[in-house]
Amino acid sequence: MSETRVRIAPSPSGNLHIGTARTALFNYLFAKKNNGKFILRIEDTDADRTSQEYIDNIFDSLKALGLNWDEGPDVGGPYGPYTQSERFDIYPKYVQKLLDSGFAYECFCTPEELEAEKEEATQAKKAYVYSKKCENLTNEEKEKLRAQGRKPAIRFNIAKAQKAFYPSSTLEFDDLVKGKLHMDTDLLGDFVIQKSNGAPTYNFAVVIDDALMKITHVIRGEDHISNTYKQILIFKALGFDVPEFGHLGMILAPDRSKLSKRHGATAVSDFVKEGYLTEALINFVALLGWSPSDGEEIKTVDQIAQDFRINEISSSNSIFEYDKLKWMNSHYIKQIPMDKLKEMLKPYLSKYNLGELSDAQYTKMIEITREPLVLLSDITDAVEYFFGQDVRIEPEAQTETLDTQIAQDVLKDFVSKAVDWDWTEENLHSKLEIFRGDWKEKGVKPKVTMWAIRAAITGRTRGADMIGVLEILGKEKTLYRAEKAIKKAAI
Ligand code: GLU
Repeated sequence: MSETRVRIAPSPSGNLHIGTARTALFNYLFAKKNNGKFILRIEDTDADRTSQEYIDNIFDSLKALGLNWDEGPDVGGPYGPYTQSERFDIYPKYVQKLLDSGFAYECFCTPEELEAEKEEATQAKKAYVYSKKCENLTNEEKEKLRAQGRKPAIRFNIAKAQKAFYPSSTLEFDDLVKGKLHMDTDLLGDFVIQKSNGAPTYNFAVVIDDALMKITHVIRGEDHISNTYKQILIFKALGFDVPEFGHLGMILAPDRSKLSKRHGATAVSDFVKEGYLTEALINFVALLGWSPSDGEEIKTVDQIAQDFRINEISSSNSIFEYDKLKWMNSHYIKQIPMDKLKEMLKPYLSKYNLGELSDAQYTKMIEITREPLVLLSDITDAVEYFFGQDVRIEPEAQTETLDTQIAQDVLKDFVSKAVDWDWTEENLHSKLEIFRGDWKEKGVKPKVTMWAIRAAITGRTRGADMIGVLEILGKEKTLYRAEKAIKKAAI
């Protein structure tokens, strides 16, 4: 049996989309499962929409997700080059082969003529297929058109290929995901395989590349199904082995429309910027269409690979639940070792002067604030009150706590006592315990006592462990903020 070879073939007309990441993952898993090769090919034939920045983004995003390729533009391989624009000299030979065998023909129609044909079909309320006007041009007719300066495009002759390889106009294939699929190829129309400027079209270049790169399985989105019929006929017409195909359902937004920027991030790099972990992203996209046999959803790519069977992928569309991704992300954040997390969070703290904290204080700050993080970027807001002399008081903390008589009395007492406290964790612990106890005797609940201190020192009604906060802020800053809250109170 031949080696399994699969590929991901993104067009660099944007940053790597999360849907492409899923397609890449399923290809990668399929390769792993079958001891095969995973290949990256950059399909940059549409020069106007291609940029190096997008190519770099595709490389970086796939690598960050752990989807390393065995062959590709940067690592090379036996069937390169792996960037389509570097393969332009390969295609004409195969166009010529199709012309010679009669499976393709020159088309001299101008854009205006084609537009008129389309208009006619629209008027007649018919689906447009090319009229085949140029299929049987004689050599003299062609010469005449050439003499007028017309350059021909090359079209693939669908009916001719269909007739040569199949008994009727129905083309059927066994899809790895969706089962048997079929189509009447008369509805496809003779499509262009080489434009009049000599450039190959997607449907043609992809066949040549897949054939020469010995791709055995093409796994991609179901939006390519109609292309697959065209491509199968080209494979046949050129005498290549036809790979197997598997089409994945689409990823839809929670409102069941196409996932787009208005729903949230769609590019892997944007998710990362927002504070999602690549481990969470890859685990999450694996579950869009695939379910683990043991029901345990949290899994690494290696664990998923052991359990992965392509014929068990759901053939229907999947809903991209941002809330579920957030839940997974918070789970993965909890698993990160402290030393690593400290570094990972730094990019989200650039607006603060980290120099205000010693390494021990910084560590402590992360220790007491990491628990509720859903996104890494949540740290920005979570630690705001650790920086600067003054603190921003949230309106709720002011009106509901600081502006009450009890809070003011508690704070005055706190300032007068804390000034003499030894500012160590252990001592703060016991002193605060006594402090709360004193107020409890006067009928004030311990949590109310602590609310007053928290509101004055952090400006919030809720937050991290108070002893840790006091310890990090130090005595001087704590007392300064408490006194300020006393002066500012509206009572
Ligand atoms: N460049 C195509 C795309 O990005 C690849 C489709 C395919 O996998 O054949 O949609």
